[in-house]
Amino acid sequence: MPQEYEIIIVGGGPAGLSAGIFIARQKVSCLLISKDLGGQLNLIPKLENYPGTIMSSGPLLAKTLENQFLMFGGEMIYDTVERVDEVESGIKVKTTRSEFTAKAIVVAPGKVPNNLGVENESAFVNKGIHYCTKCDAPFYQGKTTAVIGVGAYLLESGILLSRMASKIYMIYKGGALGGDKEMIAAIEKKENIELVPQSSVKSISGGNNLQTITIVDNSGTEKVVNVDGLFVEMGSKINLDFIKHIVKLNTKNEIEVESDGKTSHPAIFAAGDASSIPYKQIVAACSGGANAGLSAFNYVEKLKGRPGIRADWKKTIGDTVFHY
Ligand SMILES: Cc1cc2nc3c(=O)[nH]c(=O)nc-3n(C[C@H](O)[C@H](O)[C@H](O)COP(=O)(O)OP(=O)(O)OC[C@H]3O[C@@H](n4cnc5c(N)ncnc54)[C@H](O)[C@@H]3O)c2cc1C
Repeated sequence: MPQEYEIIIVGGGPAGLSAGIFIARQKVSCLLISKDLGGQLNLIPKLENYPGTIMSSGPLLAKTLENQFLMFGGEMIYDTVERVDEVESGIKVKTTRSEFTAKAIVVAPGKVPNNLGVENESAFVNKGIHYCTKCDAPFYQGKTTAVIGVGAYLLESGILLSRMASKIYMIYKGGALGGDKEMIAAIEKKENIELVPQSSVKSISGGNNLQTITIVDNSGTEKVVNVDGLFVEMGSKINLDFIKHIVKLNTKNEIEVESDGKTSHPAIFAAGDASSIPYKQIVAACSGGANAGLSAFNYVEKLKGRPGIRADWKKTIGDTVFHY
């Protein structure tokens, strides 16, 4: 028999953990299933833009969120969710090792950035190689950088870097930049951007930190360039194979959500980078997680014939709302 919970959360990144804090605090049975703790937070050794913290790191934030979730009585297991289906009692969640059922679920599986695929790449992650320009460009004030990428990711990265770095090599496969015309016009006017079309990065090297990249063009000509940082903006993978048959996705393969985390399925709520929110940042993932968590809780309360709550600092017992 599958184990039963009132609410199950998929994903142990900031969105899933935040949903968990808001659900567990209401004292409903809640299980969080994740492949790992923290998700993309593990790629952030220096975290500067999470409000309320000055010198923090992604892993530290993940551990703090986990402690907060467990402190309120949430349960967590490490496993991979393989399939989610509707059943008579609610939602069935099949993992690699077990099966569970819940009245509602919150889905927050995030995403994984695509890497460049060159030798030694992992040795220079956060030591010159970065996968999120809007997160890490501020570390390159006055420095020499390069960005290799595709489509809108490349354009946005070039513009952001041009405000911080002294020099930016924009490397791309095609002959001309593609995408938003205004962004392209802005890039073409920037004196600190050098366009490097029909090219790719063949190799990277350095000591403790990245120092040089070798650029190769379509004719096979190689050029070695000294850089302090290389931004890889090749998009990212969102894997929603386990759920895409029962919730509506948008054209970017994200789960469509309303501002309160509701999806096209009444018992399924979603948050974070795998959802259709505009800004994929930690604070947005936490906020989305809180909304989706409270919406899932309210959905379960409604099934019990109870009114639900508007904010988690009010407690509802029967029809009476207690403020404290
Ligand atoms: C290099 C890098 C640097 C960044 N720096 C910053 C920064 O400085 N500031 C900032 O605000 N944002 C930053 N971001 C963005 C930020 O990390 C993300 O917006 C945020 O982590 C999204 O949270 P999430 O919970 O939606 O997803 P994720 O963090 O991706 O977490 C998803 C979780 O779900 C789990 N999961 C996925 N599929 C399954 C499954 N089938 N079964 C079970 N578990 C599953 C994963 O293992 C993971 O634990 C950065 C991102 C990157 C890649």
